[in-house]
Amino acid sequence: YRHLVLVLGDQLDEASAAFDGFDADQDGVAMMEVAAESTHVWSSKIRIALFLSAMRHFRDRLREKDDWPVEYVELDDRANTQALDSEVERLVRRHHAQKLIAVETGDWRVEQQLQAAAKRAGVELELREDRHFFSSREDFRVHAKGRKQLRLEYFYRELRKRHGVLIDDEGKPEGGEWNYDADNRESFGKDGPPADMKAPMSFAPDAVTQEVIALVERRFGDHPGNLSHFDWPVTTEQARRALTDFIKHRLPQFGRYQDAMWTEEPWLFHSRISAAMNLKLLPPREVVDAAVEAYRRGDAPLAATEGFVRQILGWREYVRGLYWLEMPDYVERSALRAKEALPEFYWTGRCEMRCLRDALGQTLERGYAHHIQRLMVTGLYGLLLGIDPRKLHEWYLAVYVDAVEWVELPNTMGMSQFADGGRMASKPYVATGKYIQRMSNYCAGCAFDPAEAVGEKACPFTTLYWDFLERHETLLRGNRRMQFQVRNLDRLSDERRRAIRERAAVIRKAGGAVPAPDKQEE
Ligand code: FAD
Ligand code: SF4
Repeated sequence: YRHLVLVLGDQLDEASAAFDGFDADQDGVAMMEVAAESTHVWSSKIRIALFLSAMRHFRDRLREKDDWPVEYVELDDRANTQALDSEVERLVRRHHAQKLIAVETGDWRVEQQLQAAAKRAGVELELREDRHFFSSREDFRVHAKGRKQLRLEYFYRELRKRHGVLIDDEGKPEGGEWNYDADNRESFGKDGPPADMKAPMSFAPDAVTQEVIALVERRFGDHPGNLSHFDWPVTTEQARRALTDFIKHRLPQFGRYQDAMWTEEPWLFHSRISAAMNLKLLPPREVVDAAVEAYRRGDAPLAATEGFVRQILGWREYVRGLYWLEMPDYVERSALRAKEALPEFYWTGRCEMRCLRDALGQTLERGYAHHIQRLMVTGLYGLLLGIDPRKLHEWYLAVYVDAVEWVELPNTMGMSQFADGGRMASKPYVATGKYIQRMSNYCAGCAFDPAEAVGEKACPFTTLYWDFLERHETLLRGNRRMQFQVRNLDRLSDERRRAIRERAAVIRKAGGAVPAPDKQEE
């Protein structure tokens, strides 16, 4: 080959820059399934199946559409060396490729591997910009230069203006405001989600997916995740249908119920398209355009549309920029010096805390939890308990269908665990169990009481919240945005502080999961 064009599992984009100038007479495409990508963290079976199925569908599409030479290494192929770098090296040599071409990778680790492989094989590696995103890695570097603090809001506004998204004829933000959060984020109240809430579109596994599911069960049978209800979109065409379904049935209520949670209702008004976007099956421009068009047609309110657009044009671009700015040592950060082990129940969901049981249960069963469940249930508990952020990072990377490091790591280390000391978020997101009570119906079915910080009925979130404020009092007093919360500490008597410390020690000693009150020893 003149060029060997490498397509990785999260680069399934037909419009990718890697294909620019492709000449089927002299060039070839290489794709590979390697076990190392599924085992470097104990990856969920659902996530592995999604990647492999989407890759095989993409391979078939390339072969059918363009009749291109595509060398596809399956997991069970005899010659497969099961690691990305060694496979790349093997295929470059096998095809006597003069040059290796790929789009820049999502993850830092993978880019290192490609460079090492190309060097060993003695070929040039050309990494092309990933046009999937609205902004480039360099755009974010320029934005960050000279800024003491990085905040989503400024980068988001820049991108809105540059791409003319929800900007009126005078160049002002649509409706006069950049942010409509004040109109969003309601709970469902006592009655629960509206009766006409429609379940998201589901995609039954076709023959390709069924074969992959059998393969994953055979090769990774002991990994977490349940494949019996696998219904994720695995092609661009399916991802588009999922998007259309979301825009029609759930976008109008998205903002309003964005932060709400409800027992055994995993999807609510969320889009479920992160995985398809992260695999690059679905371009974010298409998603943003579809939402804005719905607003222009009068089918979705501005607050919901802006709230949704901010997640994609804002957060998704921002975390990618931050990741590439801060790597490789972002993963080492531990500003709060948290050292606790990851509780065993994060892998089983078995605990008495209703909120965690629900969020962990659906995570392990479905590979999905929405943002507030990740941030304010599983993430918050990790932060309050003081779990080593690296262990939590590995867990988040393992269990979610949409998990890829460039998006998962800043969300975990930065937004959720404050391990970067405030690079990403202006303050730690901490709250008592009362926040969860307000936003869900979990507490009504729980053995603990979110209003109690001590005693056997004490909600572990509430105990650990006060314990967290006390443990990090000095640091938090230096943070302007934490003043209100820290001042409440001053109202606690020494005796109460001691009782909270003792109760927190009981929770830690129990590995984070105390028994329900009626099962506790006096
Ligand atoms: P919706 O709620 O419908 O939101 C629409 C889209 O906005 C999402 O599909 C996603 O692409 C984007 N988005 C929303 N919030 C964020 C965010 N904070 N950062 C980046 N993009 C965002 N998202 C991932 O895609 N992969 C991950 O591995 C991941 N790990 C996370 C770990 C933690 C600790 C936290 C707090 C969040 C994480 N997120 C991750 C962000 C967010 O939770 C998911 O993108 C979202 O829940 C996916 O579900 P959805 O497609 O239904 O999203
Ligand atoms: Fe979770 Fe505490 Fe509410 Fe129980 S009482 S559901 S542990 S927040």
